[in-house]
Amino acid sequence: MIMPAEPATRHPEESYNGIGASRGIAIGECYVFIKETGSHEARELNEKNINEEIERFLTALNRSEKELKKIERVTIRKLGKGYSDLFQAQIMMLHDPVLIDAISDRIRLERKSAHLVIEEEFDHYVAKFINSDDLIFQDRADDLHDIKNRIIRNLNVRKLHSWIPEGVIVAADILSPADIILLSRNNIKGFVTDSGGSTSHISLICKSLNIPIVVGLGNLSQKITTGMQLIIDGSTGTVITNPEEQTIAGYISKKEAEQKYAADTSLTAMLPATTKCGIRITFYANIDFKEELLALKAAGAEGVGLFRSENLFTDGNNVPKESEQYSYYREMAEMITPMPLDVRLFDIGGDKLIYSPVKEPNPNLGWRGIRILIDLPDILDNQIRAIIRSNIHGNLAILVPMIISLDEIRHVRSIIDKHYAELTKEGNTQIEKPGVGAMIEVPAAVELIEEITKCADFISIGTNDLTQYTLAVDRNNVIVQDLFEKFHPAIIRQLHRVIRTAKKNHCKVTICGDMGSDPLALPYLLGCGLRRFSVVTSDIPKLKSMVSNYSIAEAEALTKECLTLDTSAKIKACLEAFQAAHCY
Ligand code: PEP
Ligand code: MG
Repeated sequence: MIMPAEPATRHPEESYNGIGASRGIAIGECYVFIKETGSHEARELNEKNINEEIERFLTALNRSEKELKKIERVTIRKLGKGYSDLFQAQIMMLHDPVLIDAISDRIRLERKSAHLVIEEEFDHYVAKFINSDDLIFQDRADDLHDIKNRIIRNLNVRKLHSWIPEGVIVAADILSPADIILLSRNNIKGFVTDSGGSTSHISLICKSLNIPIVVGLGNLSQKITTGMQLIIDGSTGTVITNPEEQTIAGYISKKEAEQKYAADTSLTAMLPATTKCGIRITFYANIDFKEELLALKAAGAEGVGLFRSENLFTDGNNVPKESEQYSYYREMAEMITPMPLDVRLFDIGGDKLIYSPVKEPNPNLGWRGIRILIDLPDILDNQIRAIIRSNIHGNLAILVPMIISLDEIRHVRSIIDKHYAELTKEGNTQIEKPGVGAMIEVPAAVELIEEITKCADFISIGTNDLTQYTLAVDRNNVIVQDLFEKFHPAIIRQLHRVIRTAKKNHCKVTICGDMGSDPLALPYLLGCGLRRFSVVTSDIPKLKSMVSNYSIAEAEALTKECLTLDTSAKIKACLEAFQAAHCY
């Protein structure tokens, strides 16, 4: 629905801060997107129209399914199967017999209009999800909300309103993945939403579509109107309404500089990255779905250092079957060979997919990653068998999340050995045994690094969780985000210790946490001795081109200095000064 445009009076420029969830700058007219559910009349039903009302509800389910199937097809075309599975999960909800029966029974017994019963039944679940402490449940609440509105709208044969003007910035209180996909066909410049977090599905989709989005803006969509000028910065999370000319000019130059930089670096991305003194640095990609492999080569990635396999759990707690996993990994292995692909075992639990049947008081310190896999051996067996069976080119390796002890690494290795022996005995002579790597993301693993680097074939440093667990700061809690300091001396010193020890013990070491993508951290990590980075694919061209600004001797001097500093502020200042002196 188009909101009336603001009168021509000049409103002052205002700035708001949200969460920058997909990079890029958008400048343009805003379009406030309000989802229509249509108007519905509440009436008491009589014997005769009870059945008609239930029929109307079932027809609305049918129409909603057709719409979702259309959205699913567009998604497969634009983003691939990985993302479209989201809509498959929504379609499955439309078939949920418990929900269908509950709504039909209540229409019959309470003689209430379908839209009221649907509203109440769904709102009950939405409220439960929103009030959950868990981000994943909060994200699912948005999905439920979307399905509810879709069904209610379809009670009245209303067409899905997905036409909006070309080239606007869309503002909304809430957007579903389906909205993003459909709206993106109108050449949308960017999105801003009141709800959402950096881990929500809409943020992931915007990143893949390369559209800037700022989420978590409170009630901004109520303060702005269609036609208003907006600037959004998807890196910083800034949204500016009614920008002054001077502000617009500043952002235009920032955007041009970003675009020029992206174009320049994409030219050099295909070349190997070497430091000023000729040392070769390798960049791998972190990926969530196999479709992302297509963009890998163009970005100059030399393999996948982290495949977050838990994304195969596309519909909640249903564990993907061994056969499904096998075809998925096998296809990936074929697509990427001879480059390496490190498959991280399912990192379920914690802030990721909920697996626990009970609500854990502190899920990040609870049943997560390898702990679940050891307790539920079928899941581990199936995943390991699927990976080994796919490893016919020898380019797959297994990465184990949340390691806190040597026993966990030994356990996984023994399962690999057992299945490899069985599979070769069964006649699979082509397969190779994958190596086993430990994620270093808990302080206990840092303390045991001497032993871990002798026990594992390789290690990968997950700085996101390492920062969370070292500083006791929940990585998803906005209240303490200012304490989530990646340049905290404790983190800086741990990284040095881990990388140095791995090198001494000839154990391959990669960084796969967000720290590896930070240009400020790059020379420090080189100075620690790190030569392999696994980062978001789109960051690779920039990082590869930056490497040539430094010699290892200069980086080592920087690292030495940082190790003497005792606060995050001093370390950051030191890194910034180094950057200013070496990058022109
Ligand atoms: C990390 O913890 O740094 C990491 C790479 O893993 P994830 O972000 O998937 O937890
Ligand atoms: Mg992690």
